[in-house]
Amino acid sequence: MTPAQDVPQRVARARSVQEGWASLDPSDRVRRLRGLLDAIGSRAGEIEETIVAETGKPRAEALVEVTTILDLVGFYLKKAPSFLESRRVSTGWLFWKRALLVREALGVVGVISPWNYPFILSMTPVVTALFGGNGVILKPSEFTPYSGLLAEDLARDAGLPEGLVQVIVGTGVTGAALVRSGVDKIVFTGGTETGRKVMAAAAESLTPVVLELGGKDAAIVLEDADLERAARGILWGAFQNAGQTCISVERVFVVEEIHDLLVGQILKEIRSLKAGSTPGVDVGPMVVPQQLERVEAQLRDALDRGGKVLAGGHRADPASNVFHPTLLVELHGASEVLHEETFGPILPVVPVRDQEEAIRKTNESCYGLSASVWTGDRRRALDVAGRLRVGGVAVNDVLVNYGIPGLPFGGVRDSGFGRTRGLDGLAELTRTRATVVDRLGLSREPWWFPYSRVTETVLWASLVFRWKRGIRGLVAGALALVRRKRG
Ligand code: NDP
Repeated sequence: MTPAQDVPQRVARARSVQEGWASLDPSDRVRRLRGLLDAIGSRAGEIEETIVAETGKPRAEALVEVTTILDLVGFYLKKAPSFLESRRVSTGWLFWKRALLVREALGVVGVISPWNYPFILSMTPVVTALFGGNGVILKPSEFTPYSGLLAEDLARDAGLPEGLVQVIVGTGVTGAALVRSGVDKIVFTGGTETGRKVMAAAAESLTPVVLELGGKDAAIVLEDADLERAARGILWGAFQNAGQTCISVERVFVVEEIHDLLVGQILKEIRSLKAGSTPGVDVGPMVVPQQLERVEAQLRDALDRGGKVLAGGHRADPASNVFHPTLLVELHGASEVLHEETFGPILPVVPVRDQEEAIRKTNESCYGLSASVWTGDRRRALDVAGRLRVGGVAVNDVLVNYGIPGLPFGGVRDSGFGRTRGLDGLAELTRTRATVVDRLGLSREPWWFPYSRVTETVLWASLVFRWKRGIRGLVAGALALVRRKRG
C-alpha cells in the first residue's frame, strides 16, 4: 500500500524524470516507445494470467485486453510523430509574422482506473500520456492492483527512464491523494458518483480532469434489422465480461412488431451460453461481491414492479459470484434497471411504437456513453445515430468502437467528458503553445503607441476589407481609406 502522504513525493520524482523525457524530439521519443510492443508481447501470458486471477474473467476476454493495448501502441507509433511535430499556421494578413503551433507535454498525469478492465483502462491513459511526453502516476483499483502494477514492469522492460511510470497502490483514499497531489491532469475512469468527487477535489487546485464514467447504453432494433445478427450482437454486448462493461448493452428498445421475434431469438442464444468460473465458460463471475448485490437489488425492484424473467435471474449457487445471464421483459417504465447503471448480466427488452420513441427513450437517460442501432438501412441508421445524445454509436454492431484505436472514446452528460484513445486522446494529454515570431524587425508595428489619425484610418480600411472580403473587400477598403482620409 502506498501511504497517501507519499503521493506528492512520487509525483515530484516522476516530474524530475519527465522533464528529460519531454525534451526529446517527438520522433526520438516515439522510437523509444517502440519497446512497449515487445515488452507487452513478451509478457502477454503473464498479463493474461494476472487479469484472469484478479477478475475471474474468461481467458478470451483477458486476451482482448492485451491486444487492444498492442493496437493502441501500434496506432500511436504510426500517427503520433506527425501529430506531435510543431506546425506552421497561417498568419492571415500579418504576412510579416511566422506563427507556430507547438505541442508539448502537460507534465505528470494522474491515472485512476477501475477493476472491470484492469489492464486496458490502466494502460490506455498510461500509454497515451507517455507518447505525449508525460510522466504518469497510476492508481489502479484496490480490487485489481496487480494488473495495474504491470504498467511499471512494462515501462522498465521497454527501457523507459526509471520513475517515469509509477504505480501507487491503495483504496479511494490513495486516489483522492493523487487528485490533490499537484499532477497536471487527472484521467479518471470509474463510477459517476466517484467522478463527481474527483472533479470537486480537482477544482480546488484547478487541476483539469478527463472523466470516463458510467453508462446505460441502449440498443435500438428497427423493424428491418437482421434479427439473428441483432440478437447475437446484443447478447454479446450485454453479457461479455459478465456485463461489467461501461458500454454494455443495458437497454434494448425494439419496435413492437418484431419484439416477440427478437426476444425469441435472444432466448434461443442465451440458452447456449455457459456461465461459471471454470475454464471454457462464456460468462465469468462478477469481480466485486458488492456489485453483484446491486445487480440483484435492481432485479428485485424490476420484479416487484411486474417485470418478468425469461432466462437466468439467479446466482449459479448462493455462495457464488456467478450470476446467470438474465433476460427481462414486461418492465414497468419506472424500474431502476431501465434508468440506473446495472453493470452486470441483465438484459431488459422494451417494446417501442417506432424509431422516434426509441430515440426519445434512449435520450431520456442521464447517461450518454454509447449506443447501437440495428437496421438494414444504413442511411436510416446514420440518421438515428446522429440524433442520439451519446459519445459513440455502432451500427449493426456493439462495443467495436473501442477496438478501433484511431477513434476517440468518451461520453457526454453523466457519462463524463474528455476523450481517451485516438488523436483526440493524445491531444487531451498534451497542450498547444501558440508561438509567433516577427520576421521584419520594423522599428514599430502600425498598431503600437502612439495612436494617430493614420492608425485609425488604416484600421478602419482593414476593418472594411475583412468585412467585405476578397476583391470587393480590397476595393471597399481602398475607398474607405480615401473617404476617411478626406473626412
Ligand atoms: P469507482 O468509481 O468505485 O472507482 C474507480 C477508481 O476510483 C478506483 O481506482 C477507486 O479506488 C478510485 N476511487 C474511489 N474513490 C475515490 C476518490 N474519492 N477519489 C479518487 N479516486 C477514488 O468505480 P469502479 O471501480 O467500481 O468501476 C465501475 C464503474 O466504472 C462503473 O460505473 C463503470 O461504468 C465505470 N467505467 C467507466 C468506463 C468509461 O470508460 N467510461 C470504463 C469502465 C468502467 P478503489 O477501487 O480502490 O476504491
